[in-house]
Amino acid sequence: MEYIEKEKKELTGDFCRGCGYCMPCPAGIIINSCARMSLMVRRAPSASWLNEYWQENMKKIENCLHCNQCMKKCPYELNTPELLKKNYEDYKKILAGEVQV
Ligand code: SF4
Ligand code: SF4
Repeated sequence: MEYIEKEKKELTGDFCRGCGYCMPCPAGIIINSCARMSLMVRRAPSASWLNEYWQENMKKIENCLHCNQCMKKCPYELNTPELLKKNYEDYKKILAGEVQV
């Protein structure tokens, strides 16, 4: 039950489903992967999400123009720029070894 409750918490509400309806992004951010990176590194083998390719792509979040195009197109009404920011902060902590996955 404890495990199911944890899963329910992670997979309800404000999480990116990876559908990609919000794309393309004018800043070149791969939103449908970057906005759910915190889940990907924890729910899939983490090494492939922590490589140079994804580090470079996550860094692009710094260039977000806050145009909100993505947010307007998200069928789940997510605050996509905010979600990207949160995932990026978590990602940096993981890379720095401050958070274990
Ligand atoms: S708000 Fe940021 S992430 Fe969203 S489309 Fe604009 S530049 Fe891309
Ligand atoms: S932010 Fe919304 S539209 Fe974009 S990939 Fe995630 S769930 Fe889909």
